Amino acid sequence: MKIFYGSGCADGYVISEVLKKKAQEAGSARLPGNSEEELRLFEEGMERLGERLDALYQKTLEESGEEAAELIETYQVILCDRQFFDGIRARIHQEKISCFAAIREENMACEKIFSEMEDAYMRERIEDIRAVCGELISVICGGPDAPADEKPEKPVVIVADALTPVDTVKMDKRYLGGFVTETGGETSHAVILARALGIPAVTGAAGIMEAARDGMKILLDGMEGKVILEPDPAAEMEAGHRMRKAREDALRFAKEPAGAVYTADNERIRLAVNASDDARLPDLGGCDGIGLFRTEFLYMQQGDYPSEDMLYQAYRRAVEEADGKEVVFRTLDIGGDKALGYMGLPEEENPFLGYRAVRICVDRPEMFKVQLRAMLRAALHGKVKIMFPMISNLEELLYCREILGGCRKELAKEGVACGEDIPVGIMVETPSAVMILDQLAPYADFFSVGTNDLTQYIMASDRGNPAVQKLYDPFYPAVLRALYHIGKTARKAGVALSVCGETAADISMIPFLLGCGVEKLSIAEPALPKVRYLVRRLHREECALLAKEIIRITSIRKIKERLQEYAENALKR
Ligand code: PEP
Ligand code: MG
Repeated sequence: MKIFYGSGCADGYVISEVLKKKAQEAGSARLPGNSEEELRLFEEGMERLGERLDALYQKTLEESGEEAAELIETYQVILCDRQFFDGIRARIHQEKISCFAAIREENMACEKIFSEMEDAYMRERIEDIRAVCGELISVICGGPDAPADEKPEKPVVIVADALTPVDTVKMDKRYLGGFVTETGGETSHAVILARALGIPAVTGAAGIMEAARDGMKILLDGMEGKVILEPDPAAEMEAGHRMRKAREDALRFAKEPAGAVYTADNERIRLAVNASDDARLPDLGGCDGIGLFRTEFLYMQQGDYPSEDMLYQAYRRAVEEADGKEVVFRTLDIGGDKALGYMGLPEEENPFLGYRAVRICVDRPEMFKVQLRAMLRAALHGKVKIMFPMISNLEELLYCREILGGCRKELAKEGVACGEDIPVGIMVETPSAVMILDQLAPYADFFSVGTNDLTQYIMASDRGNPAVQKLYDPFYPAVLRALYHIGKTARKAGVALSVCGETAADISMIPFLLGCGVEKLSIAEPALPKVRYLVRRLHREECALLAKEIIRITSIRKIKERLQEYAENALKR
């Protein structure tokens, strides 16, 4: 059994077989004919691709609807780009290379130009151009009826480096169980299509292409972003159970009205959503705002440091779209598993214990200030909070606040308007922060517990390492006791407490969290209906008694059984 983690982009579970998408390189390595012959092949290919895209557009429209069909339209537009295709013709003529080599070289040159563009949307169009070029090669190689590599005849999970809409629409959707890709973000085409088709998708599952083989059993959890190759019977049984239950529950939860959430004993609990990508902001209609805006993704989409203005525009858009609801911007949390080439960060033996988040920011105040200034400016347009990740000592927090204060003064001096009264808080995700929480409290307007990291640091188990996945479990008494302690300290200090790690959406964990005094849960958007449904059926006072009981239990198995039973009973109310 091998476990991979990526981003769960399209919700759902599936257990099926792997079908790997092969690279379309066949034929393209042959020696070139004379230029006329290569040009003839190219022009014929262009014509046939045009016809193929027309047919594909109709098919997609009928099978998957307008949104999916729009993607094919994008290809049709690219195919009409004279400048691009003239470039290929010129290469065939002047460089005396094969039409395949000319297509690839022009594609690479174009990718280079697009990758340097500031606009994230434009950079993502690289994928479209690459897809059109790939299709063109495929059409020229295989003739008009070239079969797709993937012809599923039974339900499969497609595993690929990346998927284009053409890849996906060519497949028979009746037999599509889900997608896993090594690359691609939440706006990648495969994900858009997966959502339209209502099947699970996981992107960014590093290493999956090397490990997966056609026909291998695969378990896909599109909610958690988890992929298991050759799952053992226990993992399969668990997934099968979860799949059935998820289907029944989804129907019930969907009927719960949105709006403010109160526990059954009338305590207001705020539900917010996590945003990890400014290109696809979550729908805030049914919640209290964005509880965690992971700003590093904007940096990751870039080939270089984003400018203050670019950040400001992105943050402002999020704040304006929130329309009066709160947006909690977390400052750059880069490093660890999120490396960035242009930052020139050192290779590390132990990246999660290394140079990460505020540790980098306090060392590079000039870079940090660019982001903080953008946040302060964006705060003018709505309700903003600023949150520092990975705080592990008081000096760090004080220094972050000092830099923030300095930015405010600079902006005032420059006559640039920015928001007032912006609450400043910290992520509680290192054991050291937990131990000194009372000392941090006077300098934090709120605490937000990052249980993803807190679990890995308390359990000394890398969150991305499948070999220690059993230990990486927030239900261990050590993690629960830390959460209990955090709740107690926050209450005593009068600091607002939220949780934005994945446990905040875990049905079994929520009663315990409320029992610890958590007032706000920030979760992935698809989890909102079920969390809302549960919280409205919980009694805060009872949860407090439950939490007290739980932290005395020594066995993780017993803890899980008790919490699961408790949550399931609450869901029956
Ligand atoms: C966490 O650690 O729980 C968290 C929310 O932050 P991230 O997953 O981005 O590290
Ligand atoms: Mg974290």
